[in-house]
Amino acid sequence: MPPEHEGTASPAVPPLPAPYRGRFAPTPSGPLHFGSIVAAVGSYVDALAHDGEWHLRIDDVDPPRVAPDAESRILATLEALGFEWTGPVTRQSNRIQAYTAALERLRERAHIYPCTCTRVEIAQAGLPGIEGPRYPGTCRAGLSHPFRAPAWRLEVDDTPVTFVDLLQGGQSQNLAAATGDFVLRRADGVFAYHLACVVDDAQAGFTHVVRGADLLDSVGRQAHLARLLGCLPMTYLHLPVAVDRTGQKLSKQSLAPAVDPAQPGSVIAAALSFLGHPPPGALEEAPVRELWSWSRAAWSRDRLPRARTLLWESPAASRAPK
Ligand SMILES: [Zn+2]
Repeated sequence: MPPEHEGTASPAVPPLPAPYRGRFAPTPSGPLHFGSIVAAVGSYVDALAHDGEWHLRIDDVDPPRVAPDAESRILATLEALGFEWTGPVTRQSNRIQAYTAALERLRERAHIYPCTCTRVEIAQAGLPGIEGPRYPGTCRAGLSHPFRAPAWRLEVDDTPVTFVDLLQGGQSQNLAAATGDFVLRRADGVFAYHLACVVDDAQAGFTHVVRGADLLDSVGRQAHLARLLGCLPMTYLHLPVAVDRTGQKLSKQSLAPAVDPAQPGSVIAAALSFLGHPPPGALEEAPVRELWSWSRAAWSRDRLPRARTLLWESPAASRAPK
């Protein structure tokens, strides 16, 4: 329960909301692997070091991406590693009403429009974008297929969206060139991750978003949506993402192994080392709370590697016979 809702006596000085409210928001598409633990550790220790709160949200807005048992495995792993979060775990699947209301607000304040174009049609237009073919705006002038269920898109222009990332520095993105008019709700009724994320971050009162730099390109869309919805801007810190020797991000798709919750000290120490904070060796065998209190005191954003990606090889892989 946030402190501002506690007690009925009127204190001499009204309690201020926490100046730092951070979160970790995994997608339950599989168990946590090293790459996701880096984001968990980085967001957690940055919050600890700034006397902030750290919340846990399950980003399950997209049902086809949700794997059975993934959420319970994620929670069990975080508990085994000694993470302590503030308040209850929240789930995007419980927040559809809030996303529906936000879409309505956007309909009043900005130009959103239905679109019935297929992936193939968008690809055939041949416009390059940061995440594959960019939408050419076909349905701005009316539906391409009047009898199909539509997706809803937000019309964007070429005014640059700018922000300063605490680690990656100044950023600027022209949405018209990067993504084109982007989807807020898909034709199957599923809300886009960007809309869900912005609505949740704002309504939870989060101040800091610390996550992997693979999401740096999504800030343009999210900051633009936040502004249209009248939300306070977030402070961003995008951590380097662990990649293998081929440059591929560790992920469920790249068959990255799940972290071993039975080895909490070595898992946390590996993530801290990856983030430029190698702990003293003896701490790996100590109770995890000692590792967490060491990292809280040692944490400095200046020690974080200023890169979008970093090579990481699992100790198991380097021990394997060549
Ligand atoms: Zn269209």
